[in-house]
Amino acid sequence: MTKLHFDPNQNYDCLMCGRGCRAGWDIPVEPEVVAHLEKQPLVLRIIQEQGPVFRQVEEQVFIQNSKDCPNCRFLAEDQLCSIHREFGFEAKPATCQLFPFVMTQTPEGIFAGVTYYCTATRQNHGRNTAAHEADLRAQLQRGAPINKVAMDGLVIHNRYYVSYRDYLGLEKQLLARAETVGLREALAQATLGLACTMAELPTLEDGVQAIGKKLPEIWDHPAMPPGSAMGQLRWLGQQQMCDYFKFSLERDKWDEIEAALYEGAAFALPHYNWSGTLAELDKLADDRFDPEIDRYLAHLVWRKALVVHPPLLPSLMQMTMLPQFLKVQAGLLAHKRAHQVCDQDYWDALEETETYLVTHGRNRRVVNELAVESLLSMLRG
Ligand code: SF4
Repeated sequence: MTKLHFDPNQNYDCLMCGRGCRAGWDIPVEPEVVAHLEKQPLVLRIIQEQGPVFRQVEEQVFIQNSKDCPNCRFLAEDQLCSIHREFGFEAKPATCQLFPFVMTQTPEGIFAGVTYYCTATRQNHGRNTAAHEADLRAQLQRGAPINKVAMDGLVIHNRYYVSYRDYLGLEKQLLARAETVGLREALAQATLGLACTMAELPTLEDGVQAIGKKLPEIWDHPAMPPGSAMGQLRWLGQQQMCDYFKFSLERDKWDEIEAALYEGAAFALPHYNWSGTLAELDKLADDRFDPEIDRYLAHLVWRKALVVHPPLLPSLMQMTMLPQFLKVQAGLLAHKRAHQVCDQDYWDALEETETYLVTHGRNRRVVNELAVESLLSMLRG
């Protein structure tokens, strides 16, 4: 039987808040689920009251939602799922059954992680996630969607790769280092050390090369600049944040962002009703959220988020920038809401991060890849 791993520090029992059903994600619906639901009076009633419940894109059917109305059509007024209520848990699409679990198959077994989009998981509410093992096994048998980590060929950057076993060695060293310097600094050291290693390797135009043997040496690479790695990478965090903001701004505003980054000029973020320089933006970050951020990062590392979607170096880069990104986002939301930053601002920033950068939004990985290129060109001189 496949081994299922559970994070000993992660709890979850559903609070029935319906938050995941209001996110506007593309939820795929299996053909047999469509076939069962489309003849039901419930569906006919929803179509009459709200419009279509499904949307077909090429071969795939999705739950209907829109930018204006991100709620799932099946979410009832009491915030409960009407499919679940009328036909039972197993009548729901596989993605809905699995939420908030994020399953990752590795050569050591399946890691049953969770998304922090869910209210219960971010509050660490309920029993340890291991309490759900029987349900998860049943879902796996029914073909629950699952991420896969390759045994071999985990790309680091360019055409260089390591095996999963080599990655585990790196993860072990990362966690050991986190015991003394903290997880955020350990992640920054791993990012900088690995980038130093990559910077001295030639760009491969074709073919691939394994460099697993080099991983244990990254921590003491002779080219590592002295001092805090988090401090060294701070400017790259700002670049990543600026690149991220570009996605939410019209193209004619991008020059303003570039001027903010390279000349220290002021720029505007109309969505947050905020304007100022990057130094002023940094001041919005409140360190009180650090313990929560550390818990989030530790779970991401545990559930193999660093390697589920290689390349590894941009993933490390992303993990390194997340703390400041989360704190600045929370500060911006507080500014928009005209109050002192509070827990709700942090939770909403986490929701944005999960949706657009991490678990549910891998389309913005280019932000991290651009930062990797900047770091490598700086290290190469
Ligand atoms: S967001 Fe989490 S706690 Fe809320 S209904 Fe969904 S699974 Fe339950």
